[in-house]
Amino acid sequence: MKHLVIFGAPGSGKGTQSKKLEEKYGIRVVSTGDLLRAEVAAGSEIGKTCADIIAQGKFPDNAIIFKLIELFLDKNSDAKGILYDGFPRTVEQAEYLLTLLTQRREMIQTVINIGVDEDVLIKRISGRFACAECGEIYNKYFKTPSTEGVCDVCGAENFKVRSDDNEETVKTRMMMYEEATAPVLDFFRDRDLNIILVDGMQPVDVVFHQIENIL
Ligand code: ADP
Ligand code: AMP
Repeated sequence: MKHLVIFGAPGSGKGTQSKKLEEKYGIRVVSTGDLLRAEVAAGSEIGKTCADIIAQGKFPDNAIIFKLIELFLDKNSDAKGILYDGFPRTVEQAEYLLTLLTQRREMIQTVINIGVDEDVLIKRISGRFACAECGEIYNKYFKTPSTEGVCDVCGAENFKVRSDDNEETVKTRMMMYEEATAPVLDFFRDRDLNIILVDGMQPVDVVFHQIENIL
């Protein structure tokens, strides 16, 4: 089984590119952010514990994240490839993932690192919304549905905005990224993993072609 990591700051386009990779190549995406939001929406114990933490842009305990990852891997043991989105987010999480994969005699083949300038990240996050039915990601500045108010993918007419996509929380999320998440790249480098830098400032399809060319 292949294991790929899609890496980058909040708003760099990880979710957008992951969905395209999933559709075209049939690899399965595990987005810890999506899993946590699903728990919150379902009102589960995990969701209740995490809702405020996520809304503030902070990180829930690793025990919760690791449980979600292990459940996902157990359910998807038949997958030909897994793409990790939003995980690992700390060096501790990266150590955990490498240990878990080593135990399973597997490894990370590629880390796709999407680079985007900070001022663009803020605009992308503040403009983000998604289809409430299928989760397709849109942006009021960069990618609106072709018919206003109607999802291009499933035709639904209701959309949602993430609880953490507001100005105050974005500052915390950027700080968490710089302090806790960016060091994961050095950790991967020290372990000689294959890290590929992609220019995430380009339009969605151009970014996708860059990724396809390296996979
Ligand atoms: P992440 O998962 O890294 O937080 P998303 O994939 O949700 O990022 O993208 C953040 C926002 O930026 C979304 O509103 C999305 O539509 C938009 N976006 C993603 N990639 C691009 C791009 N290459 N150019 C312009 N806007 C983009
Ligand atoms: P994302 O969808 O990746 O932008 O994640 C949204 C929020 O979910 C983050 O700001 C965190 O609060 C939480 N989250 C997602 N993935 C993780 C993770 N691997 N570790 C800790 N918190 C996470």
